[in-house]
Formats: sequence, C-alpha cells, structure tokens
Amino acid sequence: MIMDLHTHTRHSPDAAPDTVAERVAAAEAMGLQFMAITDHVEINRYYPAAYYHAEETEELIYDSEAVFRGSVRETVQEQAHTGSLTLLCGAEVGQIPQDPALAAALYRDPRLDLVIGSVHELPGMPDFYFLDYDKLDVPALMTAYFEEELRLAETDCYDILGHLTYGLRYLPNRAEYDLTPHLPVIDEIFRTVIAKGKAIELNGSNLKAAAPFTDPDVSLIRRYRELGGRYLTLSTDAHETRYLGYKMDVLEQLARDAGFTELTCFKQHQPVSVPLEGGQREHF
Ligand SMILES: [Zn+2]
Ligand SMILES: [Zn+2]
Repeated sequence: MIMDLHTHTRHSPDAAPDTVAERVAAAEAMGLQFMAITDHVEINRYYPAAYYHAEETEELIYDSEAVFRGSVRETVQEQAHTGSLTLLCGAEVGQIPQDPALAAALYRDPRLDLVIGSVHELPGMPDFYFLDYDKLDVPALMTAYFEEELRLAETDCYDILGHLTYGLRYLPNRAEYDLTPHLPVIDEIFRTVIAKGKAIELNGSNLKAAAPFTDPDVSLIRRYRELGGRYLTLSTDAHETRYLGYKMDVLEQLARDAGFTELTCFKQHQPVSVPLEGGQREHF
C-alpha cells in the first residue's frame, strides 16, 4: 500500500484516543509506505476561546495551538522509531483564508513535511457537518463554498488541497446535486493549484458510508488531470486506527481510472513522485 497522507490521532478533538506509535505499528503491519499525521488545526480558533472573547461549544472547539504542539511533537518523536514506513509530519489547517498570516507562520515550521488546506466552514458559520441544509439556499451556499476554496487555493500556506467538495459531504441527496454551475470556479481552483505546484487530494473518508463516495469524485479528478494536474495524493482521513488504509485499493484504482500513473508525497513541502503501478518505494 503506497500512501495514506491524511490521518488524525488522539490530538484531534474528533478522533479516537490513538497514539502516533499505535498508528505507526498498524501502518507497518499493513505495509504502508508513506503515512502523514495531520491533526486538526482550525486557524480561526487557533488560540483559546478567551482570546476571541468567545465560549467553547460542541460546534466551536478552540485552542488548535495545543493540538498542533502535541501532534507535531509526538510525530517527530516517532519519526526516529519507524522501520519500513516513512512517517511524515503534517497538519490539516482549516479556514486558511480567515487568517493567512498565522497560517503562513505555521507553514514555515521546519518540522512540517506537508500542510493540507481545508475548508470546513465558511466565515461566521459552523462546520458543514452541523448545517441544517433544509433551511439553507443550497446553490448559494455551494457558490460561497467553492469561492472560499478558490481563496484558499490562491494562498501559499498549503501543499495539498484537502477534500474538495467537502461542502457537499453532508448534503442530503448529494448524488443528485448538479455541480455544473460550479465547474468554472472548480476549474479556476484546479488551474491555481497546478500553477502553484500544489496537489489535490482524493479523500476516501466516506468509502465506509452506506452509499460510498469520495471527495472529490473521480470525474473531478479526471478534470484536474485534463487541465494539467499531475500532483495527486490519496487519503482515508482516518480518525481511528481501523480506518487507516481503508479501501486504499479502491482509491488507487480511481486514480488509475483518472489517468494517473504516479502519486505525490511531500517531504519538507517538496513534491516527491511515487509510482502508482507496483507501488515501488522512492527514497528521499
Ligand atoms: Zn477535513
Ligand atoms: Zn481530516
């Protein structure tokens, strides 16, 4: 198994209490070549709630700084104890356009191999997970979502654009939602990612759902490739050990279906090509 570049450990507020060492053991047992630890850093709630004169709620958890500090420290410690696995130190940084200066400072942390940039929420709104779509103008919401993804793509604070189409993830009847009106801005996101030498992620978090799907779907991955996109990462977005590497064979096949013959890792923010066919390890 080649890679799983988006995983959460006990440091993420919404993940199981698994240590990095447990994940490393599981990764090596399944023959994973590259694994990145990317715990949640919501940049708009980086400091404790008091800093923002706000109160912590179930929907709004603060102090991502503590997550970042603990996750990176533990990952760096474990990097000294891996065998066949290459353990990459990362972070999933949410809402970068809401504080690009802070995100840029984080990106420069010398311990980081990669940053996944994600949009989990729009300014002034909770995570899409908490939205009541029945009460919202969904096309307008999705327009705002893809525009926010474009703002993220235009920054230099990420290596991998995380789970594009996350805004649709919890949409009832997601499969019926017509993306056609959004394709011009999606193309602009892809062109921006490509011009900056960044990567798109194929995220398999919902391959475990009753009606499985990926974010984004394979048609958008194919579109990215047709526009010249060559940097693609695969991930489960595992929040517990049993989903590490889950259905990675499906993700690898989708990547091949979209025309990819190689995948991309990031070491110290530098892209490293890894053959998809056969999955031979490339040494840094
Ligand atoms: Zn995410
Ligand atoms: Zn995640």
